[in-house]
Amino acid sequence: MDFHHIGAVIVAAGRGTRAGLGGPKQYHNLASTPVVARTLAALSARIDPANIVIVRHADDQDLLEEALGAHTANIIIVSGGQTRQQSVLAGLQKLMQDAPSLTHVMIHDAARPFVSERLLDSLSQAAVQNVDAGIVPVLPIASTIKRVLEGAVEETVPRTNLTLAQTPQLFPTEQILDAHLRAQHTDEPFTDDASIFEWAGLTVKAISGEEENIKLTYPDDFARAEKALMMAEMAPLPDIRSGHGYDVHRFVPGDQVILCGITIPFEKGLSGHSDADVGLHALTDALLATCGAGDIGDHFPPTDPQWKGAESHIFLSEAVRIVREKGGTIMNIDITLICEAPKIGPHKAAMRENLAKICAIDESRCSVKATTNENMGFIGRREGMGAIATASVRYA
Ligand code: MG
Repeated sequence: MDFHHIGAVIVAAGRGTRAGLGGPKQYHNLASTPVVARTLAALSARIDPANIVIVRHADDQDLLEEALGAHTANIIIVSGGQTRQQSVLAGLQKLMQDAPSLTHVMIHDAARPFVSERLLDSLSQAAVQNVDAGIVPVLPIASTIKRVLEGAVEETVPRTNLTLAQTPQLFPTEQILDAHLRAQHTDEPFTDDASIFEWAGLTVKAISGEEENIKLTYPDDFARAEKALMMAEMAPLPDIRSGHGYDVHRFVPGDQVILCGITIPFEKGLSGHSDADVGLHALTDALLATCGAGDIGDHFPPTDPQWKGAESHIFLSEAVRIVREKGGTIMNIDITLICEAPKIGPHKAAMRENLAKICAIDESRCSVKATTNENMGFIGRREGMGAIATASVRYA
């Protein structure tokens, strides 16, 4: 059925005391947007707002205007009655008066903001086959049902064919208005509009409802719904990548080593084409790895005489430049130096300070650690030393 023929009545006149929010629940914010505004937006996805009536409590005009903002002017607003039934009747009468050409109406609770476009479509499609019937979305009942009185189970209710009714419920406008007009003179305890339609002897068809189409009733409902919304609306995960690097150099006769850019007097030196700074070499590889930019040998071939004896901060600075050029922001770097000697501990602070300067990041994002190799292997025999490094970079 074409949505041009379908209007809607949103019942928002309740006091919502069970939600324990210190005010009508339909005006409460759900992830920064009032429930009633979400509900209106959901129905407006298919139904012209000019054909939507919101039934509010006589005292709630200010609350409604605050909740809907500029949308207030696009819809029809009417005061409700003492009960939900009276409020629906008021809404139907107002709709018939302001939009008499509508053949069908969806009656919907303001406290169900998660009604999907798919459910609205299912309702209108069902109405094509059943023009004179009411259409109600229902869900099967998974739990066993107990009738309980004062803490004692009186009986277990067979759940065969039992379902839970949701809204929106779709009806031919004239028939539901007529049924409501007649029902107002009875004492029948109607809890939804389909039951009034049934009471009037008219046909109600059931279609599949949706689990997500919950009615916000208790404080827990709000907390759960808010969490679900936050998850759904959360920004996609940032593009954070990590890279690692590994380097070793052999000890040779000498009187100092350069590690993480810091000169440390020692009984040996490190052999290499450049200054043989294993720490900065490993870190350079780790940074290049975060953007697939090859390794230190690709950028600074050991066969190229211009890098002979070069200070390794040149290599690291180039890796930092490449990372930045590709939109990267260095989140943290971590270097582990592996040697039996010299002692690294006394120089760690200076190393971190130097790394922070070259990478232009805070020292708290720079880590330098040291370990021996427990006298095992080539490092244990003090033939050389190694370093491993990890870098995390966020790319835009
Ligand atoms: Mg190296």
